[in-house]
Amino acid sequence: MVKAVVGANWGDEGKGKITDMLAQKADIIVRFQGGANAGHTIVNHYGKFALHTLPSGVFYGHTVNVIGNGVALNIPVLVEEIKAVTDRGVPVPQILVSDRAQIVMPYHILFDQYEEERLGGKSFGSTKSGIAPFYSDKYAKTGFQVSELFDDALLEEKAARVCEMKNVLLAHLYHKPLLDPAQLTATLRTYRDMIAPYVADVSVYLDKAVREGKNILLEGQLGTLKDPDHGIYPMVTSSSTLAAYGAVGAGIPPYEIKQIITVCKAYSSAVGAGAFVSEIFGEQADELRRRGGDGGEFGATTGRPRRMGWFDCVASKYGCRLQGTTDVAFTVLDVLGYLDEIPVCVGYEIDGEVTRDFPVTAKLGRAKPVLKSLPGWKTDIRGIRSYEELPENCRNYVEFIEEQIGYPITMVSNGPGREDIIYR
Ligand code: GDP
Repeated sequence: MVKAVVGANWGDEGKGKITDMLAQKADIIVRFQGGANAGHTIVNHYGKFALHTLPSGVFYGHTVNVIGNGVALNIPVLVEEIKAVTDRGVPVPQILVSDRAQIVMPYHILFDQYEEERLGGKSFGSTKSGIAPFYSDKYAKTGFQVSELFDDALLEEKAARVCEMKNVLLAHLYHKPLLDPAQLTATLRTYRDMIAPYVADVSVYLDKAVREGKNILLEGQLGTLKDPDHGIYPMVTSSSTLAAYGAVGAGIPPYEIKQIITVCKAYSSAVGAGAFVSEIFGEQADELRRRGGDGGEFGATTGRPRRMGWFDCVASKYGCRLQGTTDVAFTVLDVLGYLDEIPVCVGYEIDGEVTRDFPVTAKLGRAKPVLKSLPGWKTDIRGIRSYEELPENCRNYVEFIEEQIGYPITMVSNGPGREDIIYR
């Protein structure tokens, strides 16, 4: 049985915690897209970890952790991350890396920085992890597959070809130091040695696992609104964040994905630029940011303060629909316990008309939030384990949102830990 855990919004919905929790019952956890640009925060008995590349199953000895072909694989970051978890007492995890995954090259990271510099104030707010240049090269067919690391002649020839092309841009567009093909080939040989112990034909492995009825968890990064097709283009990421892409990025049949758990946070947050209709500012935002998540809403990868807002039913309904949601996991509800009244965005007003359908980017910039205030519950709900024990106003909040988005909220998360979960 294959399940996917994905985000409904801009990312940071708490997918890491939900995946970590579901990983207890999983045999295999698969990352299928994205790279080291985003991160998950996971709190468990080993401590608090920010994972960027490793699947969230690495804390369980019984799971196999797979990096699928759809991932932007940064080899030194992966190796560092394995070291960082094992240095803190986590047993050495079982990891498989697809021989078809492509490699984030040192020059992708440089080009990401140079392009942000060049764009200045008009930049996309990239995390500068090389993800956009990586995926550009993948689709321009000048990327390097893991399998290619094991072919010396090919590496040399391709490194020379790629450097020739990159150096034109470095010299004439960015005015930066040029790449040296010999040095690049040498770097790739060190990458080969680092990754060799993990390389596998992942789709063959997963095919067998599916046939044997293993529990497989596809772990998404970011959320619907960052999808290059269905998100707030161009303020999106460079690989699909949708559960559907899980089939492509892992190499399994789409019809094997039986459950799609879409994670929605009880309020909104976003990093980077782009329209954010229910955004709040000033002291109101500062307070929610300070109280949010587990120790404040700051980026897991960059430490950047996140932009904050009220729950957005329009964006979340759309986000759940495009994911093909079977279950909603509603997270970080405990954080809202300080508010007397909780505004929720129930519509967008665009050019004098109210809509509940999430619009294209050009219209999104003109959208104003239509807010409805719900009464708060003014208590700490952490530690509660059954839905009926939640305060009435809290249940009303959950049920109001469930009705607005139109997908069943089957899990409510009321704390950062694995055990902080209420099943409905
Ligand atoms: P992800 O990228 O979707 O995994 O999101 P983050 O890593 O940004 O996770 C959101 C933050 O909220 C992390 O610091 C989590 O530990 C924390 N978190 C997750 N669920 C809950 C919850 O129900 N309550 C609280 N207070 N924090 C949570």
